Amino acid sequence: NESTKCTENLTPSQTEGPYFKTGSPQRNNIAEGVSGEKLVVSGYVYDKHCKPIANAWLDFWHADANGVYDNTGYNLRGHQFTDEDGVYRLETIVPAPYETRPPHIHVKIRALSGEVLTSQMYFPNDPQNQTDSIFNQELIMNVEDVENGKVAEFNFVLNQ
Ligand code: FE
Repeated sequence: NESTKCTENLTPSQTEGPYFKTGSPQRNNIAEGVSGEKLVVSGYVYDKHCKPIANAWLDFWHADANGVYDNTGYNLRGHQFTDEDGVYRLETIVPAPYETRPPHIHVKIRALSGEVLTSQMYFPNDPQNQTDSIFNQELIMNVEDVENGKVAEFNFVLNQ
């Protein structure tokens, strides 16, 4: 599948938006106690030579199934590090759209050395993708429906 390979195209950056919070807990499952359709997102973090990066930091945050961010606590917020193979795995729920925005997952990524990449990941075939002012089709995840929710793949390529 084309979208799951490292093509040496750097992952485009996007605005962090208004709802980023520092201090998220370290965890793979950011949806403990939060209801919604299950979603597991996984993939690699690569450098620009397509070499997987171990121990890269990834911080995820997104809206809940009603399109609302938790700005008082840390529901649907969490950070993790890639394993020795450069793989991350995020367990969460499918976010709802809000205001004019299509469903999306925010992320910040940094290798041990290097700059932070701030970006967002999108779902394929969402009608609001086409009317969103910052949507970028290079940031669409590869999403599959499974028995108990959705499974998605997305690989990041950092400029280093
Ligand atoms: Fe957002």
